[in-house]
Amino acid sequence: MVVGDASVEIDVLVIGAGPGGYVAAIKAAQLGKSVLLVEKDTVGGVCLNRGCIPSKALISAAHQYEAAHESSEIGITAEGVKVDFSKVQAWKDGIIEQMTGKRGIGALLKKNKVQLFNGEALFINEHEARVFNDNETARYKFNHCIIATGSRPIELKAFPFGGRILSSTEALSLKEIPQSLIVIGGGYIGVELGQTYAKFGTKVTILEGSDHILPGFEKELTKLVAARLKNKNVDIVTEALAQSCEKTDSNVTVTYTVKGEEKKVTADYVLVTVGRRPNTDGELGLDLINLEMGERGLIKINEKCQTSIPHIYAIGDIVAGPALAHKASYEAKVAAESIAGLPSVIDYKCIPAVVFSDPEIASVGLSETEAKAAGHTVAIGKFPYVANGRALSMNSPEGFVKLVGDKETGLLLGAQIVGSEASNLIAELGLAIEMGATLEDIALTIHAHPTLGEMVMEASEVGLGQPIHI
Ligand SMILES: Cc1cc2nc3c(=O)[nH]c(=O)nc-3n(C[C@H](O)[C@H](O)[C@H](O)COP(=O)(O)OP(=O)(O)OC[C@H]3O[C@@H](n4cnc5c(N)ncnc54)[C@H](O)[C@@H]3O)c2cc1C
Repeated sequence: MVVGDASVEIDVLVIGAGPGGYVAAIKAAQLGKSVLLVEKDTVGGVCLNRGCIPSKALISAAHQYEAAHESSEIGITAEGVKVDFSKVQAWKDGIIEQMTGKRGIGALLKKNKVQLFNGEALFINEHEARVFNDNETARYKFNHCIIATGSRPIELKAFPFGGRILSSTEALSLKEIPQSLIVIGGGYIGVELGQTYAKFGTKVTILEGSDHILPGFEKELTKLVAARLKNKNVDIVTEALAQSCEKTDSNVTVTYTVKGEEKKVTADYVLVTVGRRPNTDGELGLDLINLEMGERGLIKINEKCQTSIPHIYAIGDIVAGPALAHKASYEAKVAAESIAGLPSVIDYKCIPAVVFSDPEIASVGLSETEAKAAGHTVAIGKFPYVANGRALSMNSPEGFVKLVGDKETGLLLGAQIVGSEASNLIAELGLAIEMGATLEDIALTIHAHPTLGEMVMEASEVGLGQPIHI
């Protein structure tokens, strides 16, 4: 690393090493560019360090613990099943280390000759940035820059993070299983973490402002999750607005209102998951380069992920669209290819969305309501898990696969699944939409028996009015 004030020239400067930034850096390097990737924290970003991967590790552990307790129906009982939560956390941390460390992203960056600087990046002007940490500083002149600085949890004024008020980051790293937990915000992060702790035995209360949890998904999908949560003794309070809290050394009391009526609930901890804010304010120095901004601190981009300054690109949680890791990585490849002169553009025809709740929810493309609103005459194919042999043999009879097709052309427009393995089943349907498949194409594709995947074929047959198994 050069120390001093002379600028070092680089083809591409990538700021932030989350699933947006590190993928962009690798892709740009593979396309022949010299790349400097700057990360102020740990490579992998939110996704690998304090988001997708650690949350799924805890979800898996909680699921196994619950299954060990609740399998008497299929003839299996276990006694003395215990959770050693510090071991669970150590296992989770080991996964993060494996993915982000020398054998993980570190090795990928090295293999692709991406130079990594562990520190912060600060724009000096439209062509130069300073990178620095406690020990060194350098100035870089770049031909292109990709900003991928991600997002952080939104803090509510009345619930400042710290102590017993947790963001998702602290909730993923608790040392002990809390006896009780209040979750403010019933979106996917709140539901995933709330349900995880409920499975470990925590008494959970979810306060959700709208009329159902997971408000981004249709009620017909979310009601199965709500029923499972209630079954685990989780209190779900909808149309609830958290107002204030009182802390003691050992607990927190939250005051909230439901339709104007004031209520209180007390727990060991409060987890606030009311959304995320893009990291476009503060130390990045965006004000020095005068980028055109959109709503809520998001950076405006065109179909190539170019900002209003054409040689500066922006991707991931700092641009519009769902804040999801796979969207960030997709945009990363488009930005890097565009910088390399390839004719890549973003096409958000179908971005899958998955909630790793129990049962899982997954969707891709248009919902029935969206398809109708877009002027389609829809053909709906719905097939229940209870009619699928593999689902029954997994003791997972709850849920359904729903396909939304266009009645005139037969094209698949969208799909929603609630049930076991919905997260994996949705992949076939994303591919089908991208490939322009019709319901008939799916119905005529031989699906292995006995698998959950057969439900996709069966749902297509229902949509075509030719069901066999219902
Ligand atoms: C609990 C939780 C669960 C989640 N689960 C899922 C899931 O199951 N599936 C899914 O798709 N998404 C999930 N997400 C969302 C996902 O993590 C984000 O959408 C994704 O990480 C965004 O990627 P990104 O590259 O845009 O930014 P980030 O992952 O936020 O990475 C940005 C990086 O930039 C660095 N940075 C910021 N400013 C600077 C600077 N000035 N200089 C240098 N470095 C800087 C940060 O340190 C950070 O490492 C989850 C999020 C949370 C919180």
